[in-house]
Amino acid sequence: MTSPVPAFWSPRIGALEPYVPGEQPRIANLVKLNTNENPYQPSPLAIDAIQQAAANGLERYPDPTSLALREAVARRHGLKVEQVFAGNGSDEVLAHAFFAFFQQAEPLLMPDVSYSFYKVYAQLYGIACELQPVDDGLRIDIEAMAARARGGCAGIVIANPNAPTGIGLPLSRIEQLLAACPDRVVLVDEAYVDFGGESALPLIDKYPNLLVVQTLSKSRSLAGLRVGFACGQQHLIDALVRVKDSFNSYPLDRLATVGAAAALKDEVWFKTTRDKIVDTREGLSLQLEDLGFEVLPSQANFVFARHPQRDAAELAALLRERAVLVRHFKQPRIAQYLRISIGTREQCSVLVQRLQEILTETP
Ligand code: PMP
Repeated sequence: MTSPVPAFWSPRIGALEPYVPGEQPRIANLVKLNTNENPYQPSPLAIDAIQQAAANGLERYPDPTSLALREAVARRHGLKVEQVFAGNGSDEVLAHAFFAFFQQAEPLLMPDVSYSFYKVYAQLYGIACELQPVDDGLRIDIEAMAARARGGCAGIVIANPNAPTGIGLPLSRIEQLLAACPDRVVLVDEAYVDFGGESALPLIDKYPNLLVVQTLSKSRSLAGLRVGFACGQQHLIDALVRVKDSFNSYPLDRLATVGAAAALKDEVWFKTTRDKIVDTREGLSLQLEDLGFEVLPSQANFVFARHPQRDAAELAALLRERAVLVRHFKQPRIAQYLRISIGTREQCSVLVQRLQEILTETP
């Protein structure tokens, strides 16, 4: 029985199934490997820029176009500033893109195993989705998706590398999708691309239907600042600006704009912290395999792993009792996997020790 819609709510609110973010508990000495945050601090240049901005000008509204940040993105990626849109986290950018491009008569295509927020935006905006099954190795079936797209669709959304699997696709496969869907937008969410994926940004001038979304939450250690961006040809960016200016003129505050722009200029900090994470990921994958886990090949700042003899939800609960948080999704096909964010080397060795204890001490 569905419960009655509470008084005051608009009729559709009761039917929404909102996204559930990973826990942010306040537990001392917690090893927090559940939300794919970066374990390292952001660039000191970003912190300096934020401190200076905090001391000057907070009484004024920020630049509604976030020009300084968009210029920094354009310079970093060899794009024109008109090809860049900035938003309050890539979640907001994704939401605006769904609103701007995917409200069409046909269904939107996405893999059945992907970032679960996509289905939430689709529901929010009344967009019908068609889920394309990933294969038994949890890989996106590009041939099947391209074939389905040729039959007509509202567009395609994929994460590359995919979430929560961490598996990346080469650019040739992305081009296959772009070619199969020339009249609709193909949105490639590259939240994790800096950890080993291949970015589609160099394809922007070639494909008028390509929109690439990235975030500063992961490889730039700025999850707390909420900054994401989209890149594409100007006609796509113009649509996103129209949605933004019909929703919130100032999604990025002064601190976020300058902090993110400064972080994008610190290439040395970016590469040093990124390389440490990639190195730790490779070491952790081997250690998990030694413990009997099957670990999917990851190009992201997390690994997705299952233990053939142990229930994943139970493992997550036992780890939690030992002050280690990892993410478990109670979803079809992936319910026996754990998603483990890459922390510092020390945090990952605590995780391995706790898993070792659990596997030997509990039946
Ligand atoms: N895309 C994917 C695939 C993600 O996993 C996340 C992080 N939850 C996001 C987008 C959103 O990141 P943010 O809003 O922090 O930029």
